[in-house]
Amino acid sequence: MERDDQEQKQKVQCNRTELNMASARGFSTIAIHAGQDPQQWTHASVVPPLVMSTSFQHDAPGQHRGYVYGRSGNPTRTVLETCLAALEDGKHCLTFASGLGATTAITALIQAGDHLVASDDLYGGTNRLFQKCLIKQNIKSTFVDMTSVQNVIDAIQPNTKMIWLESPSNPLLKVVDLKALVDAVKSRRPDIIVVVDNTFLTCYFQKPLEFKVDISMYSLTKYMNGHLDVLMGAAITRRDDLGEKLRFLQKVMGIVPSPFDCALVNRSLKTLELRMQRHMENGLAVAKFLESHSNVERVLHPYFPSHPQHDVALKQSTGHSGMVSFYLKGNSHKFLKALKVFTLGASLGGCESLAALPCIMTHASVPEDERAALGVTDQLIRLSVGLESKQDLIADIQQALDASQ
Ligand SMILES: *Cc1c(COP(=O)(O)O)cnc(C)c1O
Repeated sequence: MERDDQEQKQKVQCNRTELNMASARGFSTIAIHAGQDPQQWTHASVVPPLVMSTSFQHDAPGQHRGYVYGRSGNPTRTVLETCLAALEDGKHCLTFASGLGATTAITALIQAGDHLVASDDLYGGTNRLFQKCLIKQNIKSTFVDMTSVQNVIDAIQPNTKMIWLESPSNPLLKVVDLKALVDAVKSRRPDIIVVVDNTFLTCYFQKPLEFKVDISMYSLTKYMNGHLDVLMGAAITRRDDLGEKLRFLQKVMGIVPSPFDCALVNRSLKTLELRMQRHMENGLAVAKFLESHSNVERVLHPYFPSHPQHDVALKQSTGHSGMVSFYLKGNSHKFLKALKVFTLGASLGGCESLAALPCIMTHASVPEDERAALGVTDQLIRLSVGLESKQDLIADIQQALDASQ
């Protein structure tokens, strides 16, 4: 009963947002206004209120105003989820305490004895969750190179219930043809849930749900929040059945974000378009410089014609973030040590440029033979190109490349 009331209230809020947004479909207009109509609060504050309370007063037993307890629902969280769903052209958005929290909830949609097909080039932590935890729940995963759709089809077993991929992938920036993959899978097995981790591009550059992907998943920790100061994840879907199940799992498993963090991410989304445009510009400038340098073996960037899936990238995305990977000819430890503007650090997607050695820093949990087969060698360097001045970033890379000889 309580839950019905709450859902009713949330639907009312969403409808009002849709009305307000009916004439405004530009990305930044949605980011700045969706779910944030000042009329919904008695004080009409333009910036949504940060509600920290975990308990909400009942008018009478069983009678409340849409919120009961902080785990099952919070007004600041509702604002963020409404805005994210609108930005993604989705219907339901659920946020979680981290990206892996979102992954934990999404994979709880399937059960013991089910099988999962995952791409072979995944965020290290996702790979670890699948290989170390899901396996204990008797959910087995098969890892394949999804740049070939046939590999995915060949890996499907009668008990396959979920397909999980990243595009572009981490750290090799391999691009998977989302439409071809979904069409091939769904024509054979409409029951399989296809999940795309869209962390590297954000909904500004790519909207997986447009290609009939079932769930668009995020580590909001990265570009979406973009300031390296919040851990959060999200699952966004157009399907009512999955939306309802994920809302239940969010509450029951308790993997919820704090209202304070929700307010921070909501604030960050307002500049997502501006930030992503600059990340792309800086990333391309750094990648072009790297390609011109004799101490660089090969640069990976989906918007370079030399990228093996360049055409697919152009077809399904409208740009690329600041993620650039490259193979160095020199000594990678010397290169990383010499960097001054780039910080040696894990994570990505912030204002601050970061550099990482994936084989040690982000993919150490992937078995060594698998790493070697993938090409995650000790010469592979991953850059998250931030928002500093372009000329300083290039000068920094130049002096570090010289130092790595
Ligand atoms: C960081 C990351 C995750 C995990 O998210 P957390 O917020 O760190 O839990 C998942 N996928 C990708 C692509 C990531 O970069």
